[in-house]
Formats: sequence, structure tokens, C-alpha cells
Amino acid sequence: MSEKLRGQVIAAYGRHYLAELPGGEILECVPRGKKSEVACGDVVEVERTGTDQGVINGIAPRSTLLYRSDAYKQKLIAANVTQIIVVVATEPSFNDELLARCLLAAHEQKLETLIVLNKCDLPQIAAARAQLSPYGKIGYKVLELSAKKDVTSLLPFLQGHTSVLVGQSGMGKSTLVNALIPAAHAATREISTVLDSGKHTTTHARLYHLNADSHLIDCPGVQLFGLHHLDFAAMERSFPEFLPYLGSCRFANCSHSHEPDCAIRKATAEGKIDERRLKLFQQITAH
Ligand code: GDP
Ligand code: ZN
Repeated sequence: MSEKLRGQVIAAYGRHYLAELPGGEILECVPRGKKSEVACGDVVEVERTGTDQGVINGIAPRSTLLYRSDAYKQKLIAANVTQIIVVVATEPSFNDELLARCLLAAHEQKLETLIVLNKCDLPQIAAARAQLSPYGKIGYKVLELSAKKDVTSLLPFLQGHTSVLVGQSGMGKSTLVNALIPAAHAATREISTVLDSGKHTTTHARLYHLNADSHLIDCPGVQLFGLHHLDFAAMERSFPEFLPYLGSCRFANCSHSHEPDCAIRKATAEGKIDERRLKLFQQITAH
């Protein structure tokens, strides 16, 4: 007779998943049925089919869910996340639109957000600070650090959260993850590496426990999350500095790009909204 167990998905590789049981045992699982709708972070019902193998029979309701932005066959990235941490760096320079899109995804899922400005030991810091200044002004938390030197300033922000880290390549995300993951989790990483190099190709996401209440999801290669389920009005509301002016444009369906008597553009001309943020909004809503 097979055993029914409750576990949490701590790694996703295509259609294969690692599910961790409450005692810490890890089973390699495949979902029952053809369609895979499982994401890293999911709480699942597992049926043991071998010593270290199982089948995922069900998924518990999720508090949050993050999607991929591209048309990859596995659409889901991470479930039950409570915070998005966007890693940017002083060098190479970072893409404003990717940052804005990550913040939109966070807003839509009502997640906490933290912007980490990494590589603060480098001289390009002034330019990066200037690029980030609109974000600090509208209430986003920005933490400056150097992943190579010391990550302890990040620890209080991780406490009590399941955080997902995203960033463009080269920003130092792997350096940061390696510095944060306790040595005790090297084992998880080893299993993951073995699976990675073998039959399964791409790793989509991995969950690491930092302590009993704090977890970290790393999704290598993911630079941003899908926003396909966000409509124009939701995008407007996700630019917090727009809120005081929404509803004041002459046209109810104003796109804030060219219409006369646009309250958003007027506020921008008056310096109340950062010009670059309005540009980003127009870029993101144009396609
Ligand atoms: P990822 O692509 O975002 O995972 O970036 P990596 O972690 O691979 O880092 C990219 C490069 O930046 C590597 O050469 C790192 O050694 C370097 N790097 C990462 N963090 C820091 C930092 O805090 N300061 C400096 N100077 N370099 C860093
Ligand atoms: Zn307008």
C-alpha cells in the first residue's frame, strides 16, 4: 500500500520536482496526469512510489503565484511567496523596465518588495543611486550592499518571509544566494546539481530554508515575471505615485501618452512624478 504524505516543492526541473517531507526527507516526484501545474513553493500531497520517489496528487491552495514572462512550457515559477527582492547593481548598468515590471508583478500579488543595490564597493555607485532615486521617493525600500563582502544587512529583511530573488544576469544574484544559504543546505544543492546535470535540463526554481520562518526561492535565469493578467487600470494603480491623479484626466480612458488635459502628464511637468517613471509606464503599457 502506498503512503500519502504532505510535502513542499523545493525544486522544479521541467516536469520533475523535489518534494520535501516534514521530517526533511526529499522525494523526487512527477505530477499525476499530463499537465504540470506545480510550482516551487507549492504545498503538495505526495504518494510515495519508491524509496525516494513519489507522485504529486494534489496542490494546496496558494496564497500567491508568480508566472513566467516568456512562452516557456512550464508557466509557473513560484508559489506562496511573500516578498520579491529585485537585485540590481552598480555595474553593469541595470534595465529600468525590468525593474519596473518586477515591481508591478509584486504589486499585483500584494507582495512586499525590496530593491537590493549590489556591488556598492564599485565606483559607479553614484549613477546607480541616481537611477534608483525615484523608487526611494515613492516608498520602495532600497538596500545597498556588497554581496562579495557582507550580506548581513539583508538578513532582517528576509526574516519571516518566503522571498524570491530576481535580477538580470550579472547583477550578482548567484553571489548573493551563495552567501545567504547556510552550509546545511549544501545537500539540497547537491541533489539539485545532480538532477540538473543529468536527465533534466533547466532548473526553474529552488527553495532554501534560511531558518524555520524564512525561506529563499532562487529562480536562475528568470529576469522578470509575467504581467499578462494585468489590465491597464491595474498597471496604473501599480505606479503608486500616480494614485493621487488617477481619475482627474479629461478622458476616462486616457492613456497618459498624448491626450489633452492629462493629469498624469501635468503632474510630471510640475515635477511631482518622475519623468522616467512616466516613460516606463508608457513603454510597459504600449505593448
Ligand atoms: P548573476 O548573473 O546575477 O548570478 O551574477 P554573479 O553572482 O555571477 O556575479 C556576476 C559578477 O559580479 C561576478 O564576477 C561576481 O564576482 C561579481 N560580483 C557579485 N557581487 C559583487 C559585489 O558585491 N561586488 C563586486 N565588485 N563584484 C561582485
Ligand atoms: Zn492621462
